[in-house]
Amino acid sequence: MTVTTGADVALVRRALDVARGAMATGDVPVGAVLVDAGGVELAAACNAREATGDPTAHAEMLALRAGSARLGAGWRLSGCTLAVTVEPCTMCAGAVVNAVGIRNKQPRPQEAELGEKEPVSATPA
Ligand SMILES: [Zn+2]
Repeated sequence: MTVTTGADVALVRRALDVARGAMATGDVPVGAVLVDAGGVELAAACNAREATGDPTAHAEMLALRAGSARLGAGWRLSGCTLAVTVEPCTMCAGAVVNAVGIRNKQPRPQEAELGEKEPVSATPA
């Protein structure tokens, strides 16, 4: 079950504000905000691939790096929350799961609920 609090809404609004910064450099407007377990902001970033020439300069990656540096306790961001304005790409999703974990994880439907009876075969013809 997903629980949305007023703090969650405020965090996403902050991420949306941060995302606007990307438009000044021609980057896709994505924002990310990292807060600690007490809700204190550790880092905020927008996409900066165009601005930096770094293909990994996605908002999530920049916020994770800055937050880790600020905490100074390694790469694990246990208890932290990362708010992002869009669903993360594969690269960022992996980094977020490794560093922060997943909160409010939605239950995944079983294959039978999706109408699948057998796994799809990948045998070449
Ligand atoms: Zn990404």
